[in-house]
Amino acid sequence: MYEKIVEYLLSSSYQIAFTGAGISTSSGIPDFRGPNGLWKVYSPEVASVEFLRENPKSFWEFYSTRMRGLFEASPNPAHKALAEMERMGLLKCVITQNIDGLHQKGGSRNVIEIHGTMTRSHCSDCFEPFKSEEVLKMIDSGQNPPLCKCGGVIRPDVVLFGEPVKEIERALEIASMADMVLAIGTSLTVYPANLVPRVIKENGGRLVVINMEETPLDDIADEVIRDKAEKVLPMIVEELKSKINVNGKS
Ligand code: NAD
Repeated sequence: MYEKIVEYLLSSSYQIAFTGAGISTSSGIPDFRGPNGLWKVYSPEVASVEFLRENPKSFWEFYSTRMRGLFEASPNPAHKALAEMERMGLLKCVITQNIDGLHQKGGSRNVIEIHGTMTRSHCSDCFEPFKSEEVLKMIDSGQNPPLCKCGGVIRPDVVLFGEPVKEIERALEIASMADMVLAIGTSLTVYPANLVPRVIKENGGRLVVINMEETPLDDIADEVIRDKAEKVLPMIVEELKSKINVNGKS
């Protein structure tokens, strides 16, 4: 069913995955722009650096709810399938826009989180690190906004709107080595993250899009699968295994 994708994975030498919020929706974490996305309920400004500065209490009301959801979530078959591909030697790394840590929980080892992670926090003033679980406990005990000993407001280690993207240079360096990318569960609209699949395509590599809705890169993709990541990726792994077994025997 996914012969072309299987063939691309087997014939490429440096395959990577570029993932977005859609890979985690079946783990119970809403995306931003999908049909049940967060921006249908909240205004994107709540995730901005200005909002944190001006309304730290409301910022944490929004973020602590998100954090609790993320901590309770488990990896789904899509995260596990990518980890399996890495173990099979058919995926060099996952570059993710997600901040939920589910790729690592699902078994992926080489993960670049270009928008940071919810699992850690730090003081906005003195940069003292905190575990996000500790910060949630402060909020539970009535300390909102959560404050560092120095008096600074604690914030999550995530890239907020209005801030530069972490590790984008490293992600683009990896993209420049890759000859195939699986873009999964991402609207491919967030800049500069969306340069990753673009660079690979521009360098003559292959682009496969697996997303429930249209994306701006569908036109230049070698293959577009408009279906759920958690259904498609395990099937690709099964097809890869049967192909490798058949070829191994023959
Ligand atoms: P996005 O919300 O812009 O797009 C998600 C896409 O995934 C949509 O096009 C949607 O149709 C598709 N989708 C939803 N469920 C799917 C499924 N089961 N299978 C396949 N596709 C599915 O998300 P984005 O492109 O990642 O970019 C927006 C930002 O969202 C990122 O910066 C990221 O930091 C942030 N974000 C992350 C999380 C998370 O960590 N899980 C959650 C929400 C938002």
